[in-house]
Amino acid sequence: MRLFVGFFLSLLCLMGSDVLDFDLIKMPTQKQAKPLVLIISGIQGDEPGGFNATNLFLQHYKILLGEVWVVPNLNRHSILRNHRGIYGDMNRKFSTLSQADKEYELIQKIKTIILNPQVQVIYHLHDGGGFYRQTYIDSLRNPNRWGNCSIIDQEMLQGAYYEDLLKLSQKITQKINQKILNDVHLYHTRNTQTRLHDKEMEKSLTYFAITHQKTALANEASKNLPLNERVYYHLLGIEGVLSELGVQFERDFKLTPQTIYSLLYNRNSFIEIENRIKLPLFDLRPRLAFFPFPKDKALDSVQFRSNQYIVGFLPRGDQIVMKYGNRVLSSLSPLYLEFSNALPEVEIEVDGKKQRLKMGDIFEVRHYFEVYLEDTDKRVNIIGFHGKYDNEINERVELKNLMKQYSIDKFGKKYRIEFYDKAGRFLGMLIADFSQSSSK
Ligand SMILES: [Zn+2]
Repeated sequence: MRLFVGFFLSLLCLMGSDVLDFDLIKMPTQKQAKPLVLIISGIQGDEPGGFNATNLFLQHYKILLGEVWVVPNLNRHSILRNHRGIYGDMNRKFSTLSQADKEYELIQKIKTIILNPQVQVIYHLHDGGGFYRQTYIDSLRNPNRWGNCSIIDQEMLQGAYYEDLLKLSQKITQKINQKILNDVHLYHTRNTQTRLHDKEMEKSLTYFAITHQKTALANEASKNLPLNERVYYHLLGIEGVLSELGVQFERDFKLTPQTIYSLLYNRNSFIEIENRIKLPLFDLRPRLAFFPFPKDKALDSVQFRSNQYIVGFLPRGDQIVMKYGNRVLSSLSPLYLEFSNALPEVEIEVDGKKQRLKMGDIFEVRHYFEVYLEDTDKRVNIIGFHGKYDNEINERVELKNLMKQYSIDKFGKKYRIEFYDKAGRFLGMLIADFSQSSSK
């Protein structure tokens, strides 16, 4: 378990809010060997199956032999807005593109990664409508549908690392179909025969890769499926491509739609803001009022850190909306303050035990806590506490002393403890978590 924690922490990412940029994560491997597989998701911001799949893949898989790089959020700015492409369809920008295009730099950057001589194989994740079939069955299952299929641009690619694209695609679909949840979901290979027939697909990422002798194919999960099932099929696709290429891996959970559902809403998910605040991602109230936020800093330059790759902030009027992929987590009403590092730690008594906590810590309480501050220049504000004073130092605080509507979570169990100096600078926040408490 310890080992896993270390691995997990190494995946923490830093993020800005709305920069036109993406993450490239080079997964640690136990043994470097060919091939290096590059997995890309999130080119279209309204296809959450792909980017939720890579988000889980990065946290719950270990590479044992071979190498895997992942770009989980290629079109992050559109993902946060649940928009296919706020500057147009990014998957049509790979043949010719004006330098005036807002995403020109970003496209150059991902092209450079695709062309990196270390990269041999590209696997590109999408969500598409309906269920692809070679012949017409009904409006949901027919040759014009894109859901649940493995897409290749042509059968063979001479000179590529893995030349027989058709065979690779068939191996993947066989692997997926062994674990199919329902016959309607059955995977097929769809060959777009791009060079001969498809002017539109010539502008796509995979075709760009093909024209540069890179083995590339796409996986589509159906938009008609719930998110956890789309992720299920994408992960099966990833496992299929890695297995066929001889990349060995380990996964720390049982691959079922039920487990995926619980991992998608993992209660250990968090976001840290400027090293002074840590918030759980899930079960927050829809709005958090008077929330300390650094003043005189553009949202783009505020430091965030999360154990999830698809978390971000968006400005909306005078609010700051916190997102997990396409999902709104909460809306912060910012209280813009000067942030200070003058109080890195505080002493707190929790259920009879004294402990030192770092700013940003979330601690569990069963019965009570009490904050000690020797320095009288500092002030504590326990949000929702009905006590006699402004400064709640040396006050025994139980759940019954806290007004439920002030909790950060919708169950009334998690409360903000904020620290300030005399000048009103914000020193940091702790969160008291009464979830394990038996009292009301
Ligand atoms: Zn797509």
